[in-house]
Amino acid sequence: MAKKVVIDPGHGGEDPGASANGIVEKDYTLKISQYMADRLSELGIENALTRDSDVTLDSTTRPKTAQSLFGTGSDVILVSNHINAGGGDGAEVIYALRNSDTLSSKIASEFIKSGQNVRKYYQRRLPSNSSKDYYYMLRETPNNESIIVEYGFLDSTGDDVNQIKNNWQELAEAVVRALASYIGVPYVAPGGTTGNYYTVKAGDTLYGIASKYGISVDELKAQNNLTSNTLTIGEVLIIPEIEVPETPDENVYIVKSGDTLYSIANKYGMTVNELKSLNNLTSDALSIGQELVVSEGNAATLEAYTVKAGDTLYSIANKYGLTVSELKLLNNLSSDTLSIGQVLNVSNSSTTPSNPSNTYTVKSGDSLYSIARKYGITVDALKSANGKTSNLLSIGEVLVIPTTTGARTYTVKSGDSLWKIATTYGVSVNALKQANGLSSDLLSIGQILVIP
Ligand SMILES: [Zn+2]
Repeated sequence: MAKKVVIDPGHGGEDPGASANGIVEKDYTLKISQYMADRLSELGIENALTRDSDVTLDSTTRPKTAQSLFGTGSDVILVSNHINAGGGDGAEVIYALRNSDTLSSKIASEFIKSGQNVRKYYQRRLPSNSSKDYYYMLRETPNNESIIVEYGFLDSTGDDVNQIKNNWQELAEAVVRALASYIGVPYVAPGGTTGNYYTVKAGDTLYGIASKYGISVDELKAQNNLTSNTLTIGEVLIIPEIEVPETPDENVYIVKSGDTLYSIANKYGMTVNELKSLNNLTSDALSIGQELVVSEGNAATLEAYTVKAGDTLYSIANKYGLTVSELKLLNNLSSDTLSIGQVLNVSNSSTTPSNPSNTYTVKSGDSLYSIARKYGITVDALKSANGKTSNLLSIGEVLVIPTTTGARTYTVKSGDSLWKIATTYGVSVNALKQANGLSSDLLSIGQILVIP
């Protein structure tokens, strides 16, 4: 029997629940629950709410109402939504004594994927009778698979207040993903697209999925907080955003009659040598109609942020218009722990350099490591390109960024050719074909190419 979901917005009416920092529990549990109901309906999962307005449900009527909707069977999942209080930080899931932790652990891992830390998922027993559940919504809804979800602490001194106020839809979506996966319904992102999500099918491997999206297994694991290579069928993975370089056309100059390397370089504020090296030119000869890559306005704007007391991944991400996931990925962080003085790369993708050849001017706080990471190259490659024997940098020092980066990808657009893409990145057509295992010159729009 297909599972159905009863969604219970905690508290309501005369019972506001907890409140602090401008958050009233009953209002957020209602918003979260209504969002969840809409999304489950979109996914074709039958659901109903115990309340859809600001009404009072006491401890007798609430479980009765819940069980009146789809009955008392074990095919009914009851999700009671709450916001915690008491000064902790992080989400919690409480599951009934009669149930396994499968659904709760899925919810916990989806929370982590959306940037919310999880304190624990657990069972709680009534002190006066340890065979019974502590919470009445679990105790008084027999046979249903009942859980309580606490999205975070509204009186937290960590990031929960922000998580609840600004991230509540993403947190509700995390529970929706877990429910879809648990029930066995293919997950579709809000708006009816597959978005950046992939539902694991029989026979999938991390490598296969990563290749499909032109990302590395490590990136895929980092984004999904995976510590092993084991996948579960039905598991929903978040596919990291792929950095797409700026539209090449904007950086391409077509040689006209009368042009010289000097006149073109001058026009774009480059030196002739920079122009030649960017285009792998060995002579000064130009032909009319030839396409040259130019780098106007593409000086790298690396932004670094030094962690201060009180900072969280969420607060820093927010400050720079990044998501927590992007910030973690950008810095290859596998946990949410920050240390004061830690330097984070906070450049968002619009300021990420896309030119294959570049120079970078060292700023305060930079290290060889942070610069190398920024450009997806190794520290050794950076040192050897600059003839450096030590790791010392001085502010204002200009570093050459080598063109042999290993982690770039490009998504094929209408009008692209192998030649055009190869030229843009200063690589040969053969190297491009080899890196992508291409035996013909045919490209399809949307195809993801690895740039060698
Ligand atoms: Zn509550």
